[in-house]
Amino acid sequence: MRDVRGQTHAKRALEIAAAGGHNLLFIGPPGAGKSMLANRLLGILPPLQDDEALETCAIHSLNGGFTLARWRQRPFRAPHHTASAVALVGGGSQPRPGEISLAHHGVLFLDELPEFDRHVLEVLREPLETGSVVISRAARQAEFPARFQLIAAMNPCPCGYLGDQSGRCHCSEDRVRAYRARLSGPLLDRIDMHVEVPAVPRALLLSRPSPDGDDSRTIQRRVQAARDRALARSGCPNHALTNKQVDAYCVLDEDGRALLEQSIERLGLSARAYHRILKVARTIGDLAGVERPSAEHLSEAIQYRRLDRQPIIQAATQF
Ligand SMILES: [Zn+2]
Repeated sequence: MRDVRGQTHAKRALEIAAAGGHNLLFIGPPGAGKSMLANRLLGILPPLQDDEALETCAIHSLNGGFTLARWRQRPFRAPHHTASAVALVGGGSQPRPGEISLAHHGVLFLDELPEFDRHVLEVLREPLETGSVVISRAARQAEFPARFQLIAAMNPCPCGYLGDQSGRCHCSEDRVRAYRARLSGPLLDRIDMHVEVPAVPRALLLSRPSPDGDDSRTIQRRVQAARDRALARSGCPNHALTNKQVDAYCVLDEDGRALLEQSIERLGLSARAYHRILKVARTIGDLAGVERPSAEHLSEAIQYRRLDRQPIIQAATQF
């Protein structure tokens, strides 16, 4: 994580995603460091438990892809946007696991998310909900586990430079809208956090010390402590809380509740967005080690819902 210079906001978001197991979408221009950040997630996630390591190893053995050097390592899979639905979720006459199962207990990174075939993205919806995938063929049926953390990345517009100060983006409002519309609402609904990754100005890069910020090991310790709090409270990481559990466990303090009411009115948040925000606020509270998330924790969680806020063109200057 110290290799990533600048991007304090995105690094913080990644730490929260690691602690709560939240799915996350990075939005930013080419070269801003979205892939580099996604690659760093493995280094800050808690180590694999014995049973998790065995499951991961078993799935990779099915594809002949297991080597001893990978024992106890969380998998990181990054299929290209031209990948077929079968490559992604599995299939074949003798059903084999796809990328989502090979990413079991690890990270699935989908770069250039809107470039994936829409049908391919649709088949992700169910496994994202259930943590497994059933492949039915005439001859036989197979079920593979697929409990992965999704990290996705996209440009803010087709050319990638919407809002860039150089004014090099000439994408029309319609083109930007069409580009965004390639991601279906139900898929976005399963992503707890949308985070901007702006281009880092050269001057800032040069002025930042290298290495920059906390190292992965230090962050991993904070992540582990936060996750332990969540497990002790509800028996699962915060991303997996049901709506009922959110009501029971993500209770804000008084100021937090007042802010939430205001925000629902002002931002017009959907019920789904509301639950996602509370889960992320709960994780931020766990990182801070508090009983009840405060207004400060809630407002940080709201910042990570970029796509719920103002229409994209008005917001362009912020990218
Ligand atoms: Zn553009």
